Amino acid sequence: MSFKNTFETYDWDTLEKEIYSYTTSDVKQILDKEKIGLEDFKALISPAAKPFLEEMAQRSHALTKKRFGNTIQMYVPMYLSNECQNICTYCGFSMTNKIPRRTLKDNEILKEVEFLKTKGYDHILLVTGEANKTVGVAYIKHAIALIREHFSNISIEVQPLDQDEYKQLIDAGLYAVLVYQETYHKATYKIHHPKGKKSNFDYRLDTPDRLGKAGIHKIGLGALFGLEDWRVDSFYTALHLKYLQKTYWKTKFSISFPRLRPHQGEVQPKVEITDFDLVQLICAYRLLDEDVELSISTRESENFRNNIIKLGINSISAESKTNPGGYAVDPKSLEQFEIADERNTEEIHQMIKSQGYEVVWKDWTNNWQ
Ligand code: SF4
Repeated sequence: MSFKNTFETYDWDTLEKEIYSYTTSDVKQILDKEKIGLEDFKALISPAAKPFLEEMAQRSHALTKKRFGNTIQMYVPMYLSNECQNICTYCGFSMTNKIPRRTLKDNEILKEVEFLKTKGYDHILLVTGEANKTVGVAYIKHAIALIREHFSNISIEVQPLDQDEYKQLIDAGLYAVLVYQETYHKATYKIHHPKGKKSNFDYRLDTPDRLGKAGIHKIGLGALFGLEDWRVDSFYTALHLKYLQKTYWKTKFSISFPRLRPHQGEVQPKVEITDFDLVQLICAYRLLDEDVELSISTRESENFRNNIIKLGINSISAESKTNPGGYAVDPKSLEQFEIADERNTEEIHQMIKSQGYEVVWKDWTNNWQ
């Protein structure tokens, strides 16, 4: 049994019709409830919930404050490689893009680490493309072992792996894995992932199950907004979250909200998610789940990030470079996508403080520190 079994009991078109048929009176009734369930979440992300944004935002703020206090966790991504054997229509690292490829060596990884430590980071997200020969399990395991004494919390966003491979990485010091389904619409998924291992929709869909079985501490979920209707994709993501929480109750979860960004070989969003829509979605998630980590990256603009701090988010990245060696080794190598918020770590730290929040740099200690 896996999420695939649950997934197959739902139909995209039926869900879409349901989400777009809610009325303001349905939403009003739902907001009167103390506990918001998955069916209610569907109504809260519908167009009918738009007039209730202020009420949802206040409730989301209160719930986040109750659960996380006045704190925001900071993390930083470190790109280790831009080599990739997949074709993804929306990514600058896609195999068919003629760009110089680079995978960081040990001394280069440590140079990047040295730079990031001067900024105060203790939570790091390692990112690679999907190239089994160069950045397979052995490379990732080695990178974790190389940096684990410098960071108490190591996450990865790399190719989906098998259960025993995840177990090896957890034993080496891995804390969390981010694996976004991109879209839960099978036909659209196929269009955007025509070649490579990533074209296997089902293998990706069941990746969080393999992670849960391997005993990972935290799993990050999300959909890439722009590929399909964001409301239906978000319902499926929430469904995935609830299934996983019930099945792997010892594991923690986070949700991210990536929107398509400009990159080499650009693809235009099929469905736009506006800033207003994104705030509505973040608030709906918080109302659905007090405990889940809600994370926002530097894909979003300065203005948006300043304003979202108080509305449900509890984790953000800063000063991100999306190119391997981007901090200290090779700042000019090609980025995966352009970031929108270019402020440095100290500026983000000050912005968070000015809103009455404290930054959490460390909330975990690993066995190597
Ligand atoms: S999204 Fe990931 S798998 Fe797809 S081309 Fe980019 S790096 Fe490769």
